[in-house]
Amino acid sequence: MHREDNIDQPLGDSRSVQLRDQARHLLAQIAAQFAPATLANSLGLEDVVLTDMIVRAQLDIEMFSIDTGRLHPETHDLMARLESHYGIKLKVFAPEARAVEDYRRNHGLDAFYESLALRQTCCQIRKVEPLQRALAGKRAWITGMRAQQTANRARLLLRQRDETHGLEKFNPLVDWTEQDLWSYVRAYRVPYNVLHDRHYPSIGCAPCTRAIAVGEDVRAGRWWWEAPESKECGLHLATPLRTEAA
Ligand code: SF4
Repeated sequence: MHREDNIDQPLGDSRSVQLRDQARHLLAQIAAQFAPATLANSLGLEDVVLTDMIVRAQLDIEMFSIDTGRLHPETHDLMARLESHYGIKLKVFAPEARAVEDYRRNHGLDAFYESLALRQTCCQIRKVEPLQRALAGKRAWITGMRAQQTANRARLLLRQRDETHGLEKFNPLVDWTEQDLWSYVRAYRVPYNVLHDRHYPSIGCAPCTRAIAVGEDVRAGRWWWEAPESKECGLHLATPLRTEAA
């Protein structure tokens, strides 16, 4: 980061400033009250914003990414740029080689196109199982999920109890719009995935993500062959049992 980047940057309007300050405040609270806390850094626009806030404030919050083995080269490039820009080392989790091998042998490398069950199995092996290892022993899980992203996420909360993983789950950007994200990214010159400039607002694995057309939903490019209600990878399916403001 450059020296001048440490100074608060103009964000254009009071809404952006308020959202930024709320997210910063929540992250500081999590670091102080829920250690060990971790950011699941999926390398999307939301997560680079959270990365910037955490590193800039030098908060005691770990972060990790999952390399499913099917990511775009542009996503690997972003990982390298984040590490170099912030002087950090991303903790990367990979799927179990044996499970990937078995899936490929039994179903085929790209069998996820054939059925919802085979798609969910692939996500289970390449995303969910590594996530479980990454979250083991943590008290809080921070995500970049936003309420606007899909119908499934419309009732998303700032904080919810995740009984599946036995920890608190925080979504500091729950009320942010895509425009809010871009305001922050531009003001603070945050490194981001160049695929966003090629009409990929939401980026996952390469074979399961496509660019979207003007007017399409931001998540339309994810698992585009499936019905909208099934478009989750299994990482965020836990039911919130207790909700409260942090
Ligand atoms: S997004 Fe596609 S390639 Fe990635 S884990 Fe899920 S089904 Fe497999």
